[in-house]
Amino acid sequence: MPGPGYYLFGEEEKNEVFEVLTTGHLSRYGSDEDPKFKHKVYSLEQEFAGLTGAAHCVAVSSGTGALMACMAALGVKPGDEVLVPGYTFVATFSAVIAMGAIPVMVEIDESLTMDIADAMAKITPKTRAIIPVHMLGNPCDMDPCVALAKDKGLFLIEDCCQALGASYKGKMLGTFGEFGAFSLNNFKVINSGDGGLLITSDTALYERAFGFHDQGHMPLRKGSEIGKRTLIGINLRMNELTGAFALAQLRKLDLILCLLRTKKQRFKQAIQSAHLEGLQFRKINDPGECATLLTVLLEDASTAQKVAETLGSKTVDKSGWHVYNNMEQILSYVDRDGQKHFEKHMLPRTDDILSRAVNLSVGVVDSGLGTDFGINIMSTEAEIDHKAEQFIRLVKPIIG
Ligand SMILES: *Cc1c(COP(=O)(O)O)cnc(C)c1O
Repeated sequence: MPGPGYYLFGEEEKNEVFEVLTTGHLSRYGSDEDPKFKHKVYSLEQEFAGLTGAAHCVAVSSGTGALMACMAALGVKPGDEVLVPGYTFVATFSAVIAMGAIPVMVEIDESLTMDIADAMAKITPKTRAIIPVHMLGNPCDMDPCVALAKDKGLFLIEDCCQALGASYKGKMLGTFGEFGAFSLNNFKVINSGDGGLLITSDTALYERAFGFHDQGHMPLRKGSEIGKRTLIGINLRMNELTGAFALAQLRKLDLILCLLRTKKQRFKQAIQSAHLEGLQFRKINDPGECATLLTVLLEDASTAQKVAETLGSKTVDKSGWHVYNNMEQILSYVDRDGQKHFEKHMLPRTDDILSRAVNLSVGVVDSGLGTDFGINIMSTEAEIDHKAEQFIRLVKPIIG
């Protein structure tokens, strides 16, 4: 089941895509004089940069690709260590490993985002970058994160794949460090099937990230630029059909966030009003979150287990592939020197928190996140109230 943007698909997406289809010009590059060229990818980049306040944006083919291009631009290389939280989508780890670097697992706190104190404890002379992940739409606590990156001279790349449009203390996520990376896959706030965006305000880094995304070419390449390419890139280009679809979705962002935040507030308040003992909500680091999910925390794992069961759901630790313990391909990774870096249960605090956590859906209905119970972005007020009542009725006997 997909994310909120999917539910709001309509004429706008069709019209944007149709404009491209009628001319048949599908490449992101073209001449401004060519009436067939509708520069949808370019418009997407411009609008997204404008919306976030970043100077530059590069549209790419996925969030994973966005993370890779950020690291490539920063010169993250084999042997470097990159700090990554133990609760994230597997792509944060795999992008680091694809660059030849080693992800270093960091604990989360009760916001389900990176515990910056633990990140500090895991810094070694090899640490080059830190990737806080704004998990389930909730901003990581950026003040200490930025301070740590500055103090220790680390590159800061925000993984905003689950938090497009969110802000922290009035500043858009993705603008706190060198780079912000976003995903447009089916489960995200807005989607174009697949796709990604990266933002930066550093022009030299923009040029390098752009180059990595397209065989070393300069931004908005004209022709093949033989003799001018300064770095080796790959191909992470977005095409015009994807760009057109994403553009229509991006223009619905305000509406989507408004719906999510309003519905989450009603759902949360209704549950809160029952004053269930021993039931807490995860810490939200800023009201500028995306409000895609509502996470409850119970006092111990066995209670959480019973709560999840009665809801027909799972605790977050068992919910699927966003938990490092459930990433067999990462756990079994062996580096070029034959060294293993990861093992199950290496993050006891993360394990404890996730074993006590149950995710309720608000806008992202994804059993991979454990959101088998909850509402969605189209739920009416009556449906939200009904779900909250149902929650209280089912959970109260267990914890009351
Ligand atoms: C979705 C996601 C990604 C990767 O995005 P893709 O577009 O699927 O490559 C990376 N990090 C996090 C936290 C994500 O949720």
